[in-house]
Amino acid sequence: MKFADVIVDISAQQLDRKFQYRIPTMLEQNIRPGVQVEAPFGKGNRTVVGYVIRVTDKPDYELEKMKFIQGISQKKQSLEGRLIELASWIRENYGCTMLQALKTVLPVRQKNGRRTNRTIVLKLSKEEAARILEEEKRRSHTARVRLLEYLIDDGSVDYAACLKELNLSATVVRALERMGVLFVEDESDFLSPFQEHKREMPFPELTEEQGRAVDEIREEWRGDAPRPVLLHGVTGSGKTVVYMSLISAMLEQGRQVILLVPEIALTYQNVQRFCECFGKDVAIIHSRLSQGERAEQFGRAARGEARIMIGPRSALFAPFPSLGLIIVDEEQESSYHSEMTPRYHARETAVERARLEGARVLFGSATPSMESRYRCETGEYREVRMSRRFGSRGLARVKITDMREELRKGNRSMLGGELRRSLAECLERGEQAMLFLNRRGYAGFVSCRTCGYVVKCPHCDVSMTIHKHGRLVCHYCGHETTAFHSCPSCGSPYIGGFRAGTQQVEELLLREFPQARVLRMDMDTTRHKNDHEKLLRAFGEGRADILVGTQMIVKGHDFPMVTLVGALAADLSLYTGDYRGAERTFQLLTQAVGRAGRADRPGVAVIQTYHPEHYAIQAAARQDDDIFYEEELGYRRLMGYPPVENLLAIHASSADELRLNTAMEYLKRYLFRATGREKVQIIGPADEAVSKVKDMYRKVIYIKHRTYGTLTRLKDKTEQYVEINNGFRGIYIQYDFNA
Ligand code: ADP
Ligand code: ZN
Ligand code: ZN
Repeated sequence: MKFADVIVDISAQQLDRKFQYRIPTMLEQNIRPGVQVEAPFGKGNRTVVGYVIRVTDKPDYELEKMKFIQGISQKKQSLEGRLIELASWIRENYGCTMLQALKTVLPVRQKNGRRTNRTIVLKLSKEEAARILEEEKRRSHTARVRLLEYLIDDGSVDYAACLKELNLSATVVRALERMGVLFVEDESDFLSPFQEHKREMPFPELTEEQGRAVDEIREEWRGDAPRPVLLHGVTGSGKTVVYMSLISAMLEQGRQVILLVPEIALTYQNVQRFCECFGKDVAIIHSRLSQGERAEQFGRAARGEARIMIGPRSALFAPFPSLGLIIVDEEQESSYHSEMTPRYHARETAVERARLEGARVLFGSATPSMESRYRCETGEYREVRMSRRFGSRGLARVKITDMREELRKGNRSMLGGELRRSLAECLERGEQAMLFLNRRGYAGFVSCRTCGYVVKCPHCDVSMTIHKHGRLVCHYCGHETTAFHSCPSCGSPYIGGFRAGTQQVEELLLREFPQARVLRMDMDTTRHKNDHEKLLRAFGEGRADILVGTQMIVKGHDFPMVTLVGALAADLSLYTGDYRGAERTFQLLTQAVGRAGRADRPGVAVIQTYHPEHYAIQAAARQDDDIFYEEELGYRRLMGYPPVENLLAIHASSADELRLNTAMEYLKRYLFRATGREKVQIIGPADEAVSKVKDMYRKVIYIKHRTYGTLTRLKDKTEQYVEINNGFRGIYIQYDFNA
């Protein structure tokens, strides 16, 4: 006997109101999540149409009281139905409740009304604001004091809520705005530069190689079993141009397109090109939109006002009536893997959505993920390559500096000799340089040179990071303390920050090259909505000579005047304690190297490292991703890591450490029993890399197996075990596949 959970009203508020029905035997074959059914409803048993969201063989309540489904609705499966089916797939494959999956997938519907969302944002540093606060206190401006205290705590606050809660008038906000203390930000500001596109530019004419790539892709998609295609093209080969050509063909067939990009703020140049090309057909969502604004963009898609949805992974669920193509640009980016439950991967989810819609999938990258390359090798995807940079742009000359050698020569600076010389020459020629460091803040962790003590956050068990003015900050929970003058452990005065941060690099450059104009781009200088764009635009317009930043500066920007790229401390991403360190390092360095050089003047890239012999560094220096792939695959195969095998992480957290430890030990024993004779590798339970966050203790069990299905089955069993077992009360479990 089978039972179906049915929802009658799919608005975001009603998703959790489900009703269970019995499935007549003759319908059993045809009822699955997403199917629209007719069923008796309420006291009068009037017939309503609803969606099946789950099929189960365990009834939730007494059989005698349960009504039967009457039949399957004759209507063609609707878009909502397909999205519900997708939600069900997400639930099965990534582990979450059906409600969580539905909320991820179904478009948010919001009541009309509040269109804009205004925020008050603190413009000054907290120290500066604190000085003004003292001043205002002295003058007894109590309203200003209330607002300032609030802002110093939170950085930014909702305009309407704040005025109401603090009982302020708008004049107070305006007064502080005039003093330069704060500014008021309108949520819809961000879209305006993109969406005021008037002209629709003609397509660029394809080069021979680009034309061949388009032909190959279309040939693959004309076949009976069209596969996802990986467009593997070096930086500057014109992948964007290929996307445009395929998109316009789709639109001509009356179908719609989803284009996923890792982070709009960082790829605004590209997004702008799409807007110029496709005008009003484009809808954009990004992470900083309010729910209402997102709903508005999704609404444009549903109503047919927009036919191309550009955005981060959540754009994948755009409610297009006849979706024809999903493109995932920079498919290797980790932002495509959701960090919240359900922890779905946009790459795989795109393939499933496309299957349900009869649509095509294109992945694009200059440095594809190990997963995608592996799937090309096994024949699951089709690979199409482009190897020429547009307009004969040459590849940069790459030099590796061994920082151990520099130290031996007595150079303790963050700039090796090679990079310093190249910078001086670059500035001399009036060209631009980019220096990237994959860290933020003034300097990294603070440690004692005498005894090795490292200052850690009391709540999170991660090292605190030193910021300007001597503040120590925890990047997980935001805990702050002032710097130590002597070691709390041994009393030695030799305690301080050692590793370089972007601020420190900036200061060093200003000292060494006082004539150079330096821009810094990192988390701290890009707090506000348009900051990324402003900084990148300023640099692009030549208003600075050197751009210093974290990895965000090497992703997807085209700056023709940049002839020097320096990777400071290339190793920081190499030994991060997880198996993707080498892959991430290779991708970052390759992207960085690809930024240098232009048609008439070949660029130079300098990679500074403590591990010059590492294959990720060697392969990046040679821009050879085949070599990297072979080496890395060997390592993954040897260790049984994805993509060769599959890896399920069961994360558990609890405020009660003892309870957590006991529960995880039991879970491990259960898993051993549940796997029986199957050769499944179970690792842990172990402390997470960060073993405590916001006073919650965290442990993890890893399970490895060749087939994904074995792991989803174990996940299902674990879900059941956790549900019926009292020992798991107060323990929060999350599943993560192949993270
Ligand atoms: P990728 O995305 O592969 O890094 P892009 O599509 O951004 O490469 O192309 C790199 C640069 O070359 C862009 O400035 C783009 O406008 C230009 N370009 C590429 N192909 C063509 C073409 N066929 N006609 C004109 N310009 C092109
Ligand atoms: Zn010490
Ligand atoms: Zn913390």
